[in-house]
Amino acid sequence: MIQSGHDGIPTEVATNSRHLLAGLRDIMAGSGNAKEKLGKIVQVIASEMVAEVCSCYVRRAGDILELFATIGLHQSAIHQTKLRLGEGVVGDVAAHARPLALSDARHHPSFSYRPETGEDPFDSMLAAPVLRDGKVRGVLVIQNRDRRVYTDVEVEILQTTAMVIAELLANGELVNATEIIVGSQDALMPVRRAAVILNGGLSIGIAVRHDPQITLLKMVADDPIIEEERLQTALTAMIGQIDDLLHHHAGRTAHHREALDVLESYRMFASDHGWMRRIVEAIRTGLTAEAAVQRVQNDMRARLSQVTDPVFREKLSDLDDLAHRLLRQLAGHQGHAILPDNAILLARSLGPAELLDYDTTRLAGVIVEEATPSSHVAIVAKALSIPALGQCPGLIEQVEPLDTLIVDGDHGQVLVRPMEEVQEQFRHSIRLRDLRQRVFRENAALPAITLDHVSIRVMMNAGLLIDLPHLHSSGADGIGLYRTEVPFMIRDNYPDVAAQEQLYTQIFNRVEGKPVVFRTLDVGGDKMLPYFTAGNEENPALGWRAVRIGLDRPAMLCRQLRALIRAASGQVLRVMFPFVATAAEWRAANQLLNRELARQQARQLPMPIRVERGVMLEIPSLLEELPDLMDDLDFISIGSNDLLQYFYAADRTNPRLTGRYDTLSPSFLRLLQRILKMAADNNKPVSLCGEMASRPLEALALLGLGFRTLSVSPSSLDIVKTMIRSVDSARLYDFIADRLARSCQNIRGELYAYARDHAIIVGYSQ
Ligand code: PEP
Ligand code: MG
Repeated sequence: MIQSGHDGIPTEVATNSRHLLAGLRDIMAGSGNAKEKLGKIVQVIASEMVAEVCSCYVRRAGDILELFATIGLHQSAIHQTKLRLGEGVVGDVAAHARPLALSDARHHPSFSYRPETGEDPFDSMLAAPVLRDGKVRGVLVIQNRDRRVYTDVEVEILQTTAMVIAELLANGELVNATEIIVGSQDALMPVRRAAVILNGGLSIGIAVRHDPQITLLKMVADDPIIEEERLQTALTAMIGQIDDLLHHHAGRTAHHREALDVLESYRMFASDHGWMRRIVEAIRTGLTAEAAVQRVQNDMRARLSQVTDPVFREKLSDLDDLAHRLLRQLAGHQGHAILPDNAILLARSLGPAELLDYDTTRLAGVIVEEATPSSHVAIVAKALSIPALGQCPGLIEQVEPLDTLIVDGDHGQVLVRPMEEVQEQFRHSIRLRDLRQRVFRENAALPAITLDHVSIRVMMNAGLLIDLPHLHSSGADGIGLYRTEVPFMIRDNYPDVAAQEQLYTQIFNRVEGKPVVFRTLDVGGDKMLPYFTAGNEENPALGWRAVRIGLDRPAMLCRQLRALIRAASGQVLRVMFPFVATAAEWRAANQLLNRELARQQARQLPMPIRVERGVMLEIPSLLEELPDLMDDLDFISIGSNDLLQYFYAADRTNPRLTGRYDTLSPSFLRLLQRILKMAADNNKPVSLCGEMASRPLEALALLGLGFRTLSVSPSSLDIVKTMIRSVDSARLYDFIADRLARSCQNIRGELYAYARDHAIIVGYSQ
């Protein structure tokens, strides 16, 4: 049995509150409609708490608190007295989500006199917020004639009682008869929030919270002893789960220290006696174990919203998370929610595997409050072509389950509870977009040839097996960039040679003879493997990553190269090394490739029919040494995401810098022009596989510079090919050459106007 460790404080609370809760339970189980029941509830509370008045205000649309039931005030004030959030003592309690006990309410700065209620004789007032899911649903108030000093025990009791009312409101038991609308969709106003685009596209759907709140079916306990036992069992199971996690990680690698520290402190909180004691105390007031956990969680959430100290906030948020886990244990829930059709999944944070656990065919959109465009969940959302947004803190608090949401991945915005007219406009845009997409898809099956008959190779970027079906359906010429680290990032251990070989073999089988360019492991910086960390680096983007790790840990790179060579038996193996800063680095990596090829040959194992070696041009310094490498290279691929980041010294993951440095600036375009010339002078093929190739206007600029191979994300293939088929490349070349010869800020506006004037398709809404 859990030791509550309390020294008598709750005894009084427990006795009074149990009595009161038992009375409420009888009312709820008894006859009468919801309105009558609410009327009886306020009567019982007034009588048990020896108050002359007890009233219940309910939060309604437009943040209005409306009087729904009272004993002691004029009955005619019911549904007439309304306060805005923050107005009067009731509004103050709702705005701050915390109780107020006032012996002289009239002199409180927020006091707002409402003559229609007949409250003149009552001086003292105790009000508690009706909280659920961290949100205020109403306010429960008692008032007395005398200047009464309410005790902490009374405050506790009113809060516990308010919780029961919250549950009744949320369960909908009061909704029909009294038109209480808290919890329904129109209770709150439409909201528009800006967000960062993780994957483009438009969708309308129904909000589903990842890890949704558990609905409590029973609030009032029959037997507190049984509830304490249930709590103990759930707690033991939960700690066991956390121990398993700890064990799982500790056994794996010493590099995992920070993750272990986080889990250890998390486990410590789970055994925190203060937290447990508060839950046990709540059980002893007459609540079920679930209701008691929720009661403590409500307090935690209310405190969390007031605290600014980041360390303390983190601790409270861990406890909040634990409370949630405990609730799931008590309710016996393990798996994910079943999604309705057109679900828009809303999460604070979400791992790629967690997203894949859902039935993704039902997902219309994903919003992850903390995710950035380079996060793993963004990569998976892209692969699945699901519109996705990130970087919108606090959105979850503004959304009710089953609210209508619009995910606008084209303009980086979320619309919560949009008005019907707005929804209709978006539906129109979605229909138009779908129509265009269908036309574009038909274009994608046709050759990528410009109006003046220049043939362009359009390749596809990939990183997961789920990307590969797009290769054939989209008409791509091959895979221009296979990000081999992606499968590594979503596993929880480092794959051995056999596992890697199996994966690469599957890729060769699925591309059915089309070329595929494998990039060796590009980890570090913003792409950490869960089981391999570079330690604390001040500047991870400039740190130990990609080929730098491969050269310092040659066994790791060699294992990957060995697996690639084995999988490529009888095929053309195309390999490129990422993040190369000097010619010497590329040569050292290439030597490892030669060594592995020699090893395979010495063992008389089947060999690839040809090996093509490339470099990813992502670091400006390599440009100066590129001529030295030309003889050894078979191809060059420009990683414009990183090239832009290192050219302008602008962190690509920092949302504050998003859009600050434009790929369509003449300085950057001239850099690309230089690379193209160097490659042409040496007769080497060059392609570009960064995100800019996937955006039709930027891809247009690349064509104008002279690029003849692009590698784009699967979802952009249609539109990029459509754009190509609507361009006269010779005229475009002259236009770009002319603009770059003149110094100007960036050519985005002019290029857009050029596209419009020449009927070149660069968007879904043209
Ligand atoms: C790039 O840097 O442009 C690139 C394609 O590689 P990644 O985005 O994977 O760093
Ligand atoms: Mg890169």
